[in-house]
Amino acid sequence: MAKRLKLAEALDALEKAYGRPRTAEHPEAPLLDHLLVGVLTAWVDRERAVRALRAVSESFLDLNEARVSPIAELDGVLRPFLGTKSEEAAHAVRIALQDVYDGTHGLDLEPLRGREPDDLKKFLKELPHTMGGPAGAIFQLALGDTHLGLMAAEARVLERLKLLPQSATPQKVRQALEKQVRPADRLKFAWGLVAHAHAVCAAKDPRCEACPLLANCPFGEAEVKRREVERKKEEARLAVEEKKRKLAEEKAAKEAAKKAAVEAKKKAVADAKLAKVAAAKAAAEKAVAERKAKAEAERLAKKAKAEAERAEKAAKAEAERKAKADAARKAEAAKKAAAKAKKPSKK
Ligand code: SF4
Repeated sequence: MAKRLKLAEALDALEKAYGRPRTAEHPEAPLLDHLLVGVLTAWVDRERAVRALRAVSESFLDLNEARVSPIAELDGVLRPFLGTKSEEAAHAVRIALQDVYDGTHGLDLEPLRGREPDDLKKFLKELPHTMGGPAGAIFQLALGDTHLGLMAAEARVLERLKLLPQSATPQKVRQALEKQVRPADRLKFAWGLVAHAHAVCAAKDPRCEACPLLANCPFGEAEVKRREVERKKEEARLAVEEKKRKLAEEKAAKEAAKKAAVEAKKKAVADAKLAKVAAAKAAAEKAVAERKAKAEAERLAKKAKAEAERAEKAAKAEAERKAKADAARKAEAAKKAAAKAKKPSKK
């Protein structure tokens, strides 16, 4: 169970984590200067931060020009004071200026001064993207030592640490706290709590696991336990899903193998059928070819025979014609010889 701290102990722990409040040299300096010096002290000491801010004021027409100029220009002005950290710091200064501009439609925070603590929010509720410490400090600086300002981020952290007084209205809660925090500690209160809210204790999803006050925070302790339960649940859910996925994969693999076997069998049957048909077709084609070859051979043989017969006949006829002609020639010769023999001699 979280060991609850007293408010003073919590503020000391926050000072240890986020440092003492760092603002412009003189309390009466413009609140915007307090804000920007506070931002720059994240990288350099106050004296150097003050000089860097002076250089920015002298290099631009006004701070609004610094807000809208290319970041490289602001980086160049800050480089002599912040060295390699100048670009990071230039972005932080630009974010702070933009936050003020978005919240106030200008760059003048002085209207925060002289207001009642519960009236501050009517002018500016928060600087949501600016570094926490400086952003918290300007609200308290605007009030001076007379009152304690209790902004939403501070109330959230105190509520989670179970250090927020229980009262009927926000005004009474603030007044109860005002009695607990001495005027000298009010800037430390604002700086530490808002720095903490900005660094880890966000409204949504606070980073309790990285919080230096976790051991003393009932909300954080419950939140970490809840996340652990959620994490285990999620792990169990993922394990079940993984198991289901593996089973589904195995089932799908089995079904695929079964289907492949059926398909292979079907294909083998179809292939065998096709092979049979192809063999039958080849046999039929072979028979047709053989039949054709036989018929062609018979036709050629018949043709050769007919030609031989015709040649034989022609030879026979030629022989007969020649024999006849020979016989006729012989008969004519005989006839001529007989006629010659009958004719009387002229002697
Ligand atoms: S443990 Fe979590 S809820 Fe508690 S103060 Fe830290 S960040 Fe905030």
